[in-house]
Amino acid sequence: MTKAATLGQLKESGYRSRPVRIELRDNLLTKVRRGEGVFTGIVGYDETVVPAVENAILAGHDIIFLGERGQAKSRIMRDLTKLLDPEIPAMAGCEINDDPFDPICSACRAQIAEHADETPIVWLTPEDRYAEKLATPDISVADLIGEVDPIKVAEGRYLSDELTIHYGLIPRVNRGIFAINELPDLAERIQVALLNLLEERDIQIRGYKIRLPLDIMLCASANPEDYTNRGRIITPLKDRFGAQIRTHYPTTTDEEVDIMVQEAKPLDVGVPVHFPKYMKEIVAELTHQARRSPQVNQRSGVSVRLSICNFETVGASAVKRSVRLAESEAVPRISDLEAVAASTLGKIEVEALEEGREIDILTKLIRQAVFAVFQRELRGEAFSELIQRFDDEGLVVEAAAIIGSEEFCRQFGDLKGMARAMEKLEAGESPATTAAALEFICEGLHLGKRLNKTPTAAGARYGR
Ligand SMILES: [Zn+2]
Repeated sequence: MTKAATLGQLKESGYRSRPVRIELRDNLLTKVRRGEGVFTGIVGYDETVVPAVENAILAGHDIIFLGERGQAKSRIMRDLTKLLDPEIPAMAGCEINDDPFDPICSACRAQIAEHADETPIVWLTPEDRYAEKLATPDISVADLIGEVDPIKVAEGRYLSDELTIHYGLIPRVNRGIFAINELPDLAERIQVALLNLLEERDIQIRGYKIRLPLDIMLCASANPEDYTNRGRIITPLKDRFGAQIRTHYPTTTDEEVDIMVQEAKPLDVGVPVHFPKYMKEIVAELTHQARRSPQVNQRSGVSVRLSICNFETVGASAVKRSVRLAESEAVPRISDLEAVAASTLGKIEVEALEEGREIDILTKLIRQAVFAVFQRELRGEAFSELIQRFDDEGLVVEAAAIIGSEEFCRQFGDLKGMARAMEKLEAGESPATTAAALEFICEGLHLGKRLNKTPTAAGARYGR
């Protein structure tokens, strides 16, 4: 069946329009019946955030998401478009997506009066019906809702005629979803205008009262402290949100790793990258340590993006080494962690008292992360034979991001007594994975106060 192109054909097809909330609810129920998930790819929310969002949709509520930065709030809001119909009909040329069966703008009503069943219609996709905006104090009513065009008014157009309006973002997603990030940053008088629009369905612009009975599902996000802070949000707007849903960071480093691996952009330059599991865990653990650190400002939070960017940076450092030394694979190791300063310092805010000590704090967090993973992964390994060689044979190990894998491994000679540890670390046979495992062991022993570590020009030296 071909899609209707005119109002007449649409009528004939038996199509029925639904308000956006009913459409979301019906489509969610269809997915529930089929046992399909809506928010696929959002790790760690299955038992917490997802059920709450589903209930809110079924109840037809507007939703406010409260959470610190980097908790996938925008992503969930964007994912709601998956619950919209693949296509819905709208009046052709209408800026506010008018329903052909019930247009609200006078231009569309005039069109139908003139062309009747020949009135052309178009089909809108979910993307056409979603908009999001980051709230800032300088957003105006004109940006969000609209502006009366003074020239057209001067031309003598009928004042309440919608033709004199430049529509803002919200009317343009009429019959869709509007998402606003960091809602408390919206000036109070804009909050009032937003509320009027949604509740009263009419709005004063430059003294003209304009009726705009929009059909919008509203979503918003906010930092919990800003939101609960007295006076940042006008109470009736708070009341408008039927559902207040608290988001959170991944509770385990495993979840953090899953998100990181899923979201990171692969560095595809022809060199295979093998990221050891313990190195992934270290990157994720670093973020978890930062989220617990009293020296890091926890009010704004430590985003999952920290893990993602650090994962990418550490990978890049390893790729650079393998390209420079013409090695066949890139395997991140401890020396590569030095590179995370660039991807970390802009993403964590240290407490005011600690300003200027960012590098020291980061170094401490990295050490805590490495040691935590070392203790988890290599529990029960004593490394007595290795320690003995440092003691008896005066073994010295130079480590640096620029040292080649084979060269690094050669310093150890044989790996007697380390087979089980190497197996736990899935070091395999390759020089690069072996070098990474050996450096991790040296660093772990150092952090456990069993080896000394002295900084060198390029990296560090492990010895006794
Ligand atoms: Zn219209």
